[in-house]
Amino acid sequence: MGKAMEHKPIRKVLIANRGEIAIRIMRTCREMGIRTVAVFSEADRTAMHVRYADEAYHIGPAPSSESYLNIDKIIGTAKKSGADAIHPGYGFLSENATFSRRCREEGITFIGPSPESIEMMGDKISARKRMIAAGVPVVPGTTDRVTDEAEAIRQIKEIGLPVMIKASAGGGGRGMRLVHKESEIASLLRSARSEAKTAFGDDAVYIEKYVDSPHHVEFQILSDKHGNTVHLFERECSVQRRHQKVVEETPSPLLNPEVRSRMGECAAAAANACNYSGAGTIEFIMDDQRNFYFLEMNTRLQVEHPITERVVGVDLVKEQIHIAEGKPLPFKQEDLKQNGHSIECRIIAEDTDNNFMPNPGTITHITEPFGFGVRCDSYVYEGYTIPIHYDSLISKLIVWGRTREEAIERMRRALSEYKITGVKTTIRFLERIMESEDFRSGKYNTHFIEKNSAFLHADGICEKQIEDIAMIATFAEYYTRFEESKITNSTPSVKKETNWKRQIRKFTSRI
Ligand code: ADP
Ligand code: ADP
Ligand code: MG
Repeated sequence: MGKAMEHKPIRKVLIANRGEIAIRIMRTCREMGIRTVAVFSEADRTAMHVRYADEAYHIGPAPSSESYLNIDKIIGTAKKSGADAIHPGYGFLSENATFSRRCREEGITFIGPSPESIEMMGDKISARKRMIAAGVPVVPGTTDRVTDEAEAIRQIKEIGLPVMIKASAGGGGRGMRLVHKESEIASLLRSARSEAKTAFGDDAVYIEKYVDSPHHVEFQILSDKHGNTVHLFERECSVQRRHQKVVEETPSPLLNPEVRSRMGECAAAAANACNYSGAGTIEFIMDDQRNFYFLEMNTRLQVEHPITERVVGVDLVKEQIHIAEGKPLPFKQEDLKQNGHSIECRIIAEDTDNNFMPNPGTITHITEPFGFGVRCDSYVYEGYTIPIHYDSLISKLIVWGRTREEAIERMRRALSEYKITGVKTTIRFLERIMESEDFRSGKYNTHFIEKNSAFLHADGICEKQIEDIAMIATFAEYYTRFEESKITNSTPSVKKETNWKRQIRKFTSRI
């Protein structure tokens, strides 16, 4: 393959996605002078990504199977609009090998890896085999699919309880079961397989040892088409509910320089083992002693990519586009450094007091946080109705601080400014996370939410509510004194808000 053929400048990108990620991608395109094409379903006529794009095309009814997952329709729209490339974002078609292959066949640049790499890593069983061959440590367990119950019991006894039964095609925490007792094996095997069948159309499962006190630590990598791979350090993603991430931070409080560099090398080796090109993430599970094992590779841009962008100072979407154009990476491993600390909170429309039930609806009022070190990747606006058909992520709030402590305080400040009414959100729950001792100490693992459930769900008054009440009290007092001063002809004097806060704290701690 000649170099000239590989170099293919991108002038117009179709973004095969919606929500915050579609806008985030378009922003970078605009900076690069690349025109953008939005696609939208019936439910998204009024969506922000449609307004932001240079052009927008209707691609079908609300259900994603008939719109955002409709390969023919999306390819057809790319051709009609003259887009020379497609960015799939995350979710939807981003890890779909058939789609990547179709793009190649149609002469459209897919901003992501080759179908061969997606196939190799998309299936967790084949990814495990490939990693073992590449010398990357994997969680002890089976390397082949398990269907037979007796065979499962035999294998589990060999591995030793507790274990995880996992769908080979799994994603988004689905098709996964934790097994503690031998008596549960049969029923959990059945339910994991049926969930996998429904979610992914494939009921292949395998068995992995359950790692004690597990920490989820993942590495961002970038590989170009010239054989260069770099890692952009780690993200700590152990704040999870139902195996889904809620808060992410980088650097990880758990790593030290030695383990970090070993993991980085493994991550790069993992990417090279599947001939990767583009941005990708190698997920590891790690125990308290910092033993780490490969979990899976996500062959796409990750939801939590902005914390890496902030700390390493690299626009990952821009690099994805350059790689897709065939350009070599503009930096080497030794050029990349971690600077300061970044945290991301996922603002989701859900009822945290009701088993995290999605809570879509109309946003009646919204005030977003700004200020130094604050980034808010959002797509909603006042009066916007969040559709019921898709993911209930509203936005991602990302902060940066020179130190972890500063980042936490900045996140608390930003969350306290963030006001959304009309739908229930995770904002208050996230504030409690930032206030919790376990999070602040940095000594937490994936059991964090379960372990701190009472604290996180407490009806107890939070700092933001104390501030609100103190403000009202101060105003009421000022008003009373002002009226009094008119009678006595004196200057009104009022207690400061901080005094009120102290008093309210004292009062509420007694009830
Ligand atoms: P991340 O680490 O980026 O959060 P996830 O595995 O949680 O990775 O998935 C990212 C996004 O993709 C989420 O919005 C999730 O709902 C969606 N997603 C993940 N797997 C699937 C799937 N198999 N089908 C549809 N959407 C998925
Ligand atoms: P998905 O494709 O759904 O993202 P993963 O394999 O990445 O599945 O696992 C999701 C989460 O489940 C991890 O972040 C971790 O919290 C937990 N988990 C997965 N495998 C193990 C394991 N072997 N031991 C302990 N926890 C695990
Ligand atoms: Mg995962």
